[in-house]
Amino acid sequence: MEIKTVGIVGAGQMGNGIAHVMSLAGYDVMLNDISPETLEKALSTITRNLDRQVSREKITLEDQTNALNRIRTTTTLTDLGQTDLVIEAATERETVKQAIFEDLLPHLKPETILTSNTSSISITRLASRTDRPEKFMGFHFMNPVPVMQLVELIRGIATDEETFSACKAVVDRLGKTAASAEDFPAFIVNRILMPMINEAVYTLYEGVGSVQSIDSSMKLGANHPMGPLELADFIGLDTCLAIMNVLHDGLADTKYRPCPLLTKYVEAGWLGRKTQRGFYDYRGETPVPTR
Ligand code: NAD
Repeated sequence: MEIKTVGIVGAGQMGNGIAHVMSLAGYDVMLNDISPETLEKALSTITRNLDRQVSREKITLEDQTNALNRIRTTTTLTDLGQTDLVIEAATERETVKQAIFEDLLPHLKPETILTSNTSSISITRLASRTDRPEKFMGFHFMNPVPVMQLVELIRGIATDEETFSACKAVVDRLGKTAASAEDFPAFIVNRILMPMINEAVYTLYEGVGSVQSIDSSMKLGANHPMGPLELADFIGLDTCLAIMNVLHDGLADTKYRPCPLLTKYVEAGWLGRKTQRGFYDYRGETPVPTR
């Protein structure tokens, strides 16, 4: 099956990045969010990011214009009914995702492939509650989507080969690289990355190092391009906590227990860059550590 139109649910950090790369690759995009302000913000972010690509001569002005013309936004979920591929990229909460699928399913064409960009939730479980578990899979982009090369493709227990091949063809057309992962909590990247971030928060919590010393240790000592706390702020501390909870619950091993300090930041609403405060305060000219 050839995919021409892509529906994206959720226009936050990930949804707007996915809309950006899909439209640039020539797909018609229908971008949905419950919040009209988020949709407006998403379009201006996409425009700004495309501007940057034009000024770096990575794409032409014509590519930018064509890409922007291919994106339509809507607050009505059912407008995604006629798309060939749906990528759900809403908030990392299972009840939210399930409600989206329930609302969307009666309006979808029978052949539409349904996917989730979830970082950690079981694809098999999400799929089992739909009418098309064989046409359901995980389509996991990395953040920021226009920059990161990898897409994890996750088969649920029932995903058929045709669905996998169709999604793999989309990844190829985006010029990205697919890695196939089995459907176990947090898949590959986050199974390895999140415990490291959580350990960095424990290191801070136990007073082994300050925010700055932890981040510069991992940058200069392990050659990571970003420190783990800086990276956590970038990902979103609510998303980090949600993934740790999925690992903890799903693998039933205490080594995955979320650090209480991570929980405290989330309870405070200090979710990282998206709320201007996390392990760093981003409200001024330069980020200032909050501990
Ligand atoms: P975000 O908070 O930036 O955006 C989530 C968006 O979903 C918000 O704009 C919200 O309004 C919208 N939303 C909530 N309920 C909705 C509904 N019922 N219908 C339509 N829209 C709805 O979050 P994000 O970082 O973009 O994460 C989105 C998904 O992508 C999550 O599943 C997350 O785990 C996954 N993901 C995140 C990252 C990352 O680094 N942030 C990386 C890979 C995957």
